[in-house]
Amino acid sequence: MPASPEHPLSPATVAVRAGRPPHEPDQPFSVPITLASTYVAGGDLEYGRYGNPTWAAFEDAVGALEGGRCLAYSSGMAAATSLLDLVALGDKVVVPRHSYNGVIVTLDDLELRGRLSVTQVDITDTAAVVAACEDAALVWFESPTNPALEVADVPAIIAAAHDAGARVVVDNTFMTPLLQRPLEQGADLVLHSATKYLSGHSDLQMGAVVTRDEELYAVLKGRRDVQGNVPGPFEAWLALRGLRTLSLRVERASANAAELARRLAGHQVPTEVRYPGVGAMISIVLPTPDQADLLVRATSLWVNATSLGGVESTFERRRRWKSEPTSIPDGLVRLSVGIEDVEDLWADLEQALDGLAVGG
Ligand code: PLP
Repeated sequence: MPASPEHPLSPATVAVRAGRPPHEPDQPFSVPITLASTYVAGGDLEYGRYGNPTWAAFEDAVGALEGGRCLAYSSGMAAATSLLDLVALGDKVVVPRHSYNGVIVTLDDLELRGRLSVTQVDITDTAAVVAACEDAALVWFESPTNPALEVADVPAIIAAAHDAGARVVVDNTFMTPLLQRPLEQGADLVLHSATKYLSGHSDLQMGAVVTRDEELYAVLKGRRDVQGNVPGPFEAWLALRGLRTLSLRVERASANAAELARRLAGHQVPTEVRYPGVGAMISIVLPTPDQADLLVRATSLWVNATSLGGVESTFERRRRWKSEPTSIPDGLVRLSVGIEDVEDLWADLEQALDGLAVGG
């Protein structure tokens, strides 16, 4: 894309313009969906598991946004397990105790089977994280964490990990490359559940990894070629279509979240409102799990559903999942704020909270 070092394109522009066919007569404006299990031999693609022009366009766009080379996967967890596979037998992985639950469950399973060792940390306790990095091979974190919404000292942790010779993976799903670009801060690898904000419409599952390290890229690409954890072309096309509006969606959802967090903090029912001051995720704590269960059933706009990052507002009591750690309060409800009108969202939430106050 035409950008110079003096005038780099803004991420909002990159999200719209990256990963398009060349501007030449008769080229389509958007990349078509290529449905192919195989290609005529002699080129770069050869077989459907090795590459696809529709994923390639998605990868170009996400790579341009994060500032590295991207590989697309069939889900965020498919991407995550590929990254965990980079760790050698017996190596130590440092992870926040409140990382995305699927990652924690996978790490626990790998540890149980003797594949690696795991040290869980409180990601807000930078000194403890730095100490844990000392003999680690991989430091993996999210900031803010899901669903506790704790914020890490990203540069300090990356520096400590690198001093120890460890690689750093940052799961940037909650922030998106519009609000945080970990590769620019020195991370080795960025992970996305593209199921969430990048695609943004709750209609597909995809994952993405981005790196500036050519060697790591080649290892991951080689493994994806044989392991086949690749996305479908239609999903990649939809994800790229969704990505075009990422900037507008993030802007609107973030503004809604800031306003809702302010109003929630003034409401009598939640005992705690967790909002990191950026992004569109909020967690509130209700006095009892029963009240949390009542709340998520008492709204008409807010949908009681897992997942996040879509245009529609959703929420759920996280401890309804048996694998969620007990350090997450039983009455914690995680809200994914969408792009609806903020007054409509508040009216729906407020009447449900008021009902709890009356009902006790
Ligand atoms: N990372 C985070 C922060 C998530 O919230 C999720 C899913 O909720 C994942 C990774 C896993 O992504 P997927 O559901 O696309 O496999």
